Amino acid sequence: ISAVSKTYKSAGRSLTVLDNVNFAIATGSTNAIVGPSGSGKTTLLGLCAGLDSASSGIVELSGVNLTGLSEDKRAQVRNQHVGFIFQNFQLLPTLTALENVMVPLELRGERNIKARSLELLDKVGLADRGHHYPAQLSGGEQQRVSLARAFSNSPKILFADEPTGNLDAETSERVVKLIFDLNREAGTTLVLVTHDPELAAKTQRILRIKGGKLVSDDKTGN
Ligand code: ATP
Repeated sequence: ISAVSKTYKSAGRSLTVLDNVNFAIATGSTNAIVGPSGSGKTTLLGLCAGLDSASSGIVELSGVNLTGLSEDKRAQVRNQHVGFIFQNFQLLPTLTALENVMVPLELRGERNIKARSLELLDKVGLADRGHHYPAQLSGGEQQRVSLARAFSNSPKILFADEPTGNLDAETSERVVKLIFDLNREAGTTLVLVTHDPELAAKTQRILRIKGGKLVSDDKTGN
């Protein structure tokens, strides 16, 4: 991303939440975005992943310049390259756990989607919960379904917003292992937003945002 700024306009007021942010994420690397609550981390992740568009500046994702692209075009790029784990899971409430995992595969017009989705649910330890609706799952289970869904399009880049924020220690450990395994085994680039210093320290690079600006950018030695 280069010279990226984001201003939200609501109720006649405008609020600049990102101000001239620049960085490049290396393919196959692991990265954490940290910083105080309200500093702009989720907004930044959403721009990088093409979920929203910047007010100014350039965002490039897997070689595609997202600047000025319509939501439809950005969605195409996302479906092809990106997995996303949201802070509040964002599972579709009217679909079962299994159907939620199947959605990205359906969007890509793939085959054997049911069997592959069951495999993914098994990977996150939820093979027996496929028929449950999100409301019938615990928070940690919903988080794991969201992880299985993010994995289902074999993303080149995984963006995760507080992937362990709502989980107990044991589930959190399991989720972190799955995420880092994806990096090791498939070379998936990881960009995580987290308030957990231990999780941030597991990545190779920590980018710190404060008041909408990038204030530090450190290699961890991993
Ligand atoms: P947290 O650690 O608490 O999740 P964050 O660093 O991820 O915070 P953001 O969610 O990016 O912060 O929000 C940055 C600022 O932008 C906040 O002050 C928030 O109130 C504001 N904001 C976020 N989304 C919108 C929106 N759609 N419209 C207006 N303001 C918004």
